[in-house]
Amino acid sequence: MPVHAIRWPEGKRFAFTIFDDTDRTNLERGPDVYALLRDLGMRTTKSVWPIRGQGDAPIGGATCEDQAYLEWALGLQRDGFEIAFHNAAPASSPRREVERGLEVFRNQFGAYPKVHTNHGANLDALYWGAARLTGPQRWVYERVIGHRRKGRDAGTDPDSVYFWGDLAQAHITYVRNFVYHDIDTLACCPFMPYHDPARPFVNFWFASSEGADRPAFCRTIREENQDRLEEAGGACIMYTHFGVPDFRDGKRLHPRFVELMTRLAEKGGWFVPVGELLDHLRTQRGDPVLTPASRRMLERRWLLERLVRARRRP
Ligand SMILES: [Zn+2]
Repeated sequence: MPVHAIRWPEGKRFAFTIFDDTDRTNLERGPDVYALLRDLGMRTTKSVWPIRGQGDAPIGGATCEDQAYLEWALGLQRDGFEIAFHNAAPASSPRREVERGLEVFRNQFGAYPKVHTNHGANLDALYWGAARLTGPQRWVYERVIGHRRKGRDAGTDPDSVYFWGDLAQAHITYVRNFVYHDIDTLACCPFMPYHDPARPFVNFWFASSEGADRPAFCRTIREENQDRLEEAGGACIMYTHFGVPDFRDGKRLHPRFVELMTRLAEKGGWFVPVGELLDHLRTQRGDPVLTPASRRMLERRWLLERLVRARRRP
């Protein structure tokens, strides 16, 4: 797969967007961040849970069964934000519930979701846990990091009650896999969005940059990294949970987060939602199919970063 510089629309020098996993988001923690993004001229991607689902949700948040929350999400969509999928519900959903969640989403937002990310603890995740990795990388992950995360790919196991891989293949275009520490997601994963023949139920995978909570988010988009992203003409897709309380300082948004986002917005990058950014990459380069060598590169870099982090925070 040849890797060459991407031309961004409207003469922009770089691209920046965010995929917000909806964990812990509600009408108290959510509208504040999106008002800021709108004012800064950024249009990003926010995921939702269309249904509440059944069973326990270790990490929850508002769902589209809450009418006021749904209306807020629809307003975001009208303002140009992309609404995406974070599994059907905050709890593990068997196939018939996933099917219902997809239909509810389509009725509410006008189309099936273009982009999906796995909600970490859900059994209906797609190629999750050790199933993200291949060969020796999987062996290391299972023994060192993911010993409790075996078999977390029931969403793509045709023998499981949680199977919905065929529905994902029919309706969803992009799914997130690896998250890297560098701000330039495209430099970490130059092939994205790519198809991986070893994981056929996902049409195209994309990567993201680390920003799971406010300290991680601010570390990744700190000043020197912003400047480097602009200089390289790269693309950043931030992974985050804007619903976690630490994006706030009391009732206001955390000032460091606001400062960094304002600085980034002033650079005037191409600030479009994840689906639009990935569509653009495909129009520039066609549809890359992952080779074994490229897969090894992506998996090893991700695993190495995970191992370093596991050593720092036992
Ligand atoms: Zn989640």
